Amino acid sequence: MARFSMILMVAVALAAFGTGELRAQEDAPPPAEAAADVPAEAPAEAEVAAEAPVEAEAATDVPAEPPAPVLGKNWRGQGHYLSWIKVLACWVAFLMWVYTTDWVSRDCLEIRLNYLRWNPVVFGVFLGFFVLVWWIPWFWLSYPLLMIALIAPLTSYIIYRNSQVMNNERVLTPEHIRFWLSVHLGKIGIKIESQRIDPLSKGPPVQLEAKGGEDERTDRANTLLARQSEGLLPAREILHDALSNRASALMLDYAQQAVGIRFMIDAVWHEREALERDYADPALETLKILCGLNVQDRQGRQQGTFTAEYQSINYDGTLASQGTKTGERVLLQWVDKKIRFDTLDELGMRDKMQEELQELINLRKGFVLLSAMPAAGLRTTADVVIHHTDRFTREFVAVEEESNRYEEIENCQVMTYNAGEGQSPASIFPKVFRFAPDVIICRDLVDGESVDMLCEEITEERLAISTVRAKDSAEALLRVLALDANPQQFAETISAATSQRLIRKLCEACKEAYAPTPQVLAQLGIPEGRVQAFYRPPQQPEEVCEECGGIGYVGRTAVFELLKVGDMVRKVLPTGPNLDVLRQAARKDGMRSLQEEGILLVAKGVTSLPELMRVLKQ
Ligand SMILES: [Zn+2]
Repeated sequence: MARFSMILMVAVALAAFGTGELRAQEDAPPPAEAAADVPAEAPAEAEVAAEAPVEAEAATDVPAEPPAPVLGKNWRGQGHYLSWIKVLACWVAFLMWVYTTDWVSRDCLEIRLNYLRWNPVVFGVFLGFFVLVWWIPWFWLSYPLLMIALIAPLTSYIIYRNSQVMNNERVLTPEHIRFWLSVHLGKIGIKIESQRIDPLSKGPPVQLEAKGGEDERTDRANTLLARQSEGLLPAREILHDALSNRASALMLDYAQQAVGIRFMIDAVWHEREALERDYADPALETLKILCGLNVQDRQGRQQGTFTAEYQSINYDGTLASQGTKTGERVLLQWVDKKIRFDTLDELGMRDKMQEELQELINLRKGFVLLSAMPAAGLRTTADVVIHHTDRFTREFVAVEEESNRYEEIENCQVMTYNAGEGQSPASIFPKVFRFAPDVIICRDLVDGESVDMLCEEITEERLAISTVRAKDSAEALLRVLALDANPQQFAETISAATSQRLIRKLCEACKEAYAPTPQVLAQLGIPEGRVQAFYRPPQQPEEVCEECGGIGYVGRTAVFELLKVGDMVRKVLPTGPNLDVLRQAARKDGMRSLQEEGILLVAKGVTSLPELMRVLKQ
């Protein structure tokens, strides 16, 4: 759009230029407003001008020409003022200007220069001269001036941009011209030798850039430095290997002889084939340059950030390095590609449990506690659960700490407290309760006072939703009591607690069925004959599976546990029970444990028994 309007303006200006020359020859003063008016009043005419400047000249000319010429067959013949060569020359200048202005604006974006500064320079100077040369009656003077107006700003831009990029990215240098000729003449069969190779077009499709420097300028300088360094290719290869294997982190252990390398895939470390020092040392140097760290220091603790682009996704990475007894350890991590979950189904909750939970959160009164261990997806689950509540007929308020805000939820008012000033949810609860909300979301229960106030409020018709870090739902209840909350009141109020574990899913492409022994089935409490086969990663694969890279697992799902508080739990909670006692009470209230829920997934072939054992041990 911008380009189009630009072309339009130029076309009009060009038409005016031609007219100006004519008028000068006729010794008539040029009607400046006529030209200026055209774009606003007659866009159609301007479009015509873009295609045929000659006619536009006439068109622009006509209204101001006293007396009006007869637009007949011979109208061109009257003045003998139109020189096709001159019009063509203007047209060429115009096209060059459009092309170069467009190139500058794209080039600025590409190499991250300030296009807001450079665009007006290349655009404005030429345009200014257009107006100026309008007054000059001599074409041999006005045209060279116009060309200068085109070339001078462009040259200054090229000189500046060439100083900001690395050698092989410079334009109009002898090597660049040679490279350009070799590419274009190569197409018609003429061969020209060119030394120039683009280091970024070689190697794997991962691009690295500096980040986290003091300012953009520093980052740009660090990126250039890294691109000129020897380790760029190995650094990109290592990261490509990690990213294409779905890793979210990689660890490098520099030792005397070699460099150990591990990938974190679906939260599990996988050992890779060790790297040679000759290969991995320059790679680390490049990565440290990108992060703006001290390349020489291989002992002290250093940390920095960089970005990697792979398959059109930008990954924000961190690098932490620290000297060890045998060398140096380096940890690279990046934020995983965000997968958005919208339903409990997508999270892996089974249908029956979804119904039960849905029912609980739609009650007018109650206290639902969601729990998980750190990094086990609690925030995501809480978001999905809250999105499932009916927020259109009920009044919602969320209580959050100012520096720890959660994703915004439609139709839910947020009220904040400031922990830095010694506040807790309890500090703003009186204000919150005055609104008489139907549902109060307070994800961070930080003290007993807040819990007590919340429980007291729930004796009215209110629903509270909270989260807590715990291994299972029984422990979640104890964690709340450990905040020094009133156990009696809490026991009377709490309606349910959930817990979850993230578990790796077997690769559908290569998973292998096997018959579990009767002993294993008995141990798991599965009646004989109920399950025909369990699944596991292939034991002796003939070739590496393309889907999972030979790991046997792809992606993760969650195992959920739902404790609906019943009489047994209500009875033992105020007595200060230990975890085992509380778990037993929960089972008597009808809860299926995480282990039992996990076995359902094993029986369905979603995951394997060893994987379940692994996550339950956490
Ligand atoms: Zn596989």
